[in-house]
Amino acid sequence: MPVTWPEGGGHIGGPYLVPRGGEPFSYRPLENVLLVNEYAQIVHSAGASDKTRPSVILKLANKYGLLYGRADKLSAEPLSAWNHADMALTILLGKWADGDGAAVPFVFNETEVAQNTPRMDWEEGRERPVLLFEPKNLNDALKLQVAELYSGGAEARRCEYCSRPFVYGAGTPRRVGGEYCSPSCRRGAWRKRQGVA
Ligand SMILES: [Zn+2]
Repeated sequence: MPVTWPEGGGHIGGPYLVPRGGEPFSYRPLENVLLVNEYAQIVHSAGASDKTRPSVILKLANKYGLLYGRADKLSAEPLSAWNHADMALTILLGKWADGDGAAVPFVFNETEVAQNTPRMDWEEGRERPVLLFEPKNLNDALKLQVAELYSGGAEARRCEYCSRPFVYGAGTPRRVGGEYCSPSCRRGAWRKRQGVA
């Protein structure tokens, strides 16, 4: 279900993402192999005070679904859910980037997707049915992605400029870590060296 920030705002406890009607559609968050990096950028960003943040979150939610809400039901989600995000996932990424990925299986095994065994079904364009994992929300999808990347041999590290964790290496399109999480951090570091910032 597509979502929006309602007109007016001013709700108790801050604005909510609400369904805006229209045809429900299925989200395919895991087609973005490094979605978890996109997510880390938002969660670890300078934060709540950033005025562009609601529009960034809205874009992400309409592309990949609500963080905790069920994509297949009518649900609303407060901005604060995204502000605090999921501590387990946030801490997990940070620890992995600091060299300790031991908690990945524990965090993944807590998810609903881990507790429901996968099923086989037909996918468009495939000749045979495939094994399907269907996370019920973006939060579970992200944990599934971390589990897949970690078990597949990917690496994580922290950005030298903003210290956000990011994933790279085996199983990702980003083969080499490099020092920065994004082109904007690379530019930021360059400006800092030049004494411009
Ligand atoms: Zn960075």
